[in-house]
Amino acid sequence: MAIPGRSNIAVDDSGDAWVRAFRCSACGTAAEVPTIACRKCHARGTMEEFRAGDSGKLVTWSIVHRSFPGIEVPFVSAIVRLDDGITIKGNLKGVDHDNLKADMPVRLVMDDAGGAKDKDGNPYVAYHFTAATADA
Ligand SMILES: [Zn+2]
Repeated sequence: MAIPGRSNIAVDDSGDAWVRAFRCSACGTAAEVPTIACRKCHARGTMEEFRAGDSGKLVTWSIVHRSFPGIEVPFVSAIVRLDDGITIKGNLKGVDHDNLKADMPVRLVMDDAGGAKDKDGNPYVAYHFTAATADA
């Protein structure tokens, strides 16, 4: 059974994984984490979990040239604003570093967390981003 590799990932009984997000039922504001009160309208008890979609836009990024042994560099650490209104961090893969642009469309892709497994051999699930293609 797959295990969420991040606290903002949910995995259902069939192994399907998605990013957890929260939306205020009073004003519609989205949040990355559950909060006691809505950050915008301050209503209490109105934050409801939903399944974030996979499309978004690149907000900003860093090209990482140094990392732990065994981690291939360079890679792109990206901040992405999903169309559902939450902003999350992950690696952006498959894009020429010279072609990175703010607001470029990206897609969230669930992956195998680099092949990581727990002590019982259960795989972790994580995510990264790719450039969104026009037909995606
Ligand atoms: Zn609200």
